[in-house]
Amino acid sequence: MSFTSPHLAGLAPYTPGEQPAIEGLVKLNTNENPYPPSPRVLAAIEGAARTGLQLYPDPESCALRKVIARHHGVDPDRVFVGNGSDEVLALVFDAFFRHAGQPLLLPDVSYSFYQSVCRWLGVAVRQVPLDEGLRVDLAAFEATRGEAVAGMVIANPNAPTGIALPLNALARLARVHPQRVLLVDEAYVDFGAESATALVARHPNVLVVQTLSKSRALAGLRVGWAIGQAPLVDALTRVKNSFNAYPLDRLAQAGAIAAFEDQAYFERQRDAVVHCREGLLLQLEDLGFSVLPSQTNFVFARHPAHDAAQLAAALRARKVLVRHFAQPRIDQYLRISVGTPGQCGQLVDALVHILQAG
Ligand SMILES: *Cc1c(COP(=O)(O)O)cnc(C)c1O
Repeated sequence: MSFTSPHLAGLAPYTPGEQPAIEGLVKLNTNENPYPPSPRVLAAIEGAARTGLQLYPDPESCALRKVIARHHGVDPDRVFVGNGSDEVLALVFDAFFRHAGQPLLLPDVSYSFYQSVCRWLGVAVRQVPLDEGLRVDLAAFEATRGEAVAGMVIANPNAPTGIALPLNALARLARVHPQRVLLVDEAYVDFGAESATALVARHPNVLVVQTLSKSRALAGLRVGWAIGQAPLVDALTRVKNSFNAYPLDRLAQAGAIAAFEDQAYFERQRDAVVHCREGLLLQLEDLGFSVLPSQTNFVFARHPAHDAAQLAAALRARKVLVRHFAQPRIDQYLRISVGTPGQCGQLVDALVHILQAG
């Protein structure tokens, strides 16, 4: 006997990177920002906690959407917000990609949460292989022109490879299936890629998703948003209000507004991460790794003479946590989040020991 709804047997839930409570751990496995959020965010959350928690939050997060709209130079009716971009993504999949049997196109190596959502919602998937340089294969997507598909999803920059497509490539993708939504997940865009928000005005099928979790150091607050033309935002709002009318609580709305209002702080710590990334990339190459070009806050690297799973285990024994994916094509790579200069130094020291030992 089973209490579960029948579809649960077919789920393939996403496995987040581990969050172990080990003292002195150098945690470079989940692409969190190594720096704390702006002090103005903390002050805003404290203020919100002192007033009005007995009341429901604004269900449509109007003040926050206005601030996000100003940040992107669009009208607030082109902004949708949710409880982390994972929630926004799930609502997007429900709103736009459930077209009986037609497959959603996505790269074979990408953010694995997409596949979890597809299994949950019964969306068929067609994987489009990355090219031999592990770049999104634009030509392969364009070759599907004229076929019946549910839509397209691209993480740009892609995860876990870290490689970004330029804006003109995204514009070309948007025209491959103009009757379907192109979802561009820009979780890492602030670390050096071009944002597809510039395409929204001209392309009614482009929907861009961003998050406070990585570049704005607020993974714990759970705030993500989508930018698209008003009909797409209206559709998302219909789905949201069929599921959870209040996805962002009062603390999250207040903290998120403050995060956008401290642009100087954001740019300082973002630049620090990018600077550290470039140094780490060179040090890894000096140790013999080949490292993919990264426009993110992580690097994706392989060593020709050392098995990636063994390296990850050896690093863990030295209290350095990185992410390894036991997955075809990328199982010899490590994904290493960029930490503070001190954390990156500890990683490199640990690697020097491990490589010398074996
Ligand atoms: C981290 C990440 C997300 C999830 O971000 P949240 O806003 O914390 O839910 C979404 N997409 C990609 C590609 C990510 O790496």
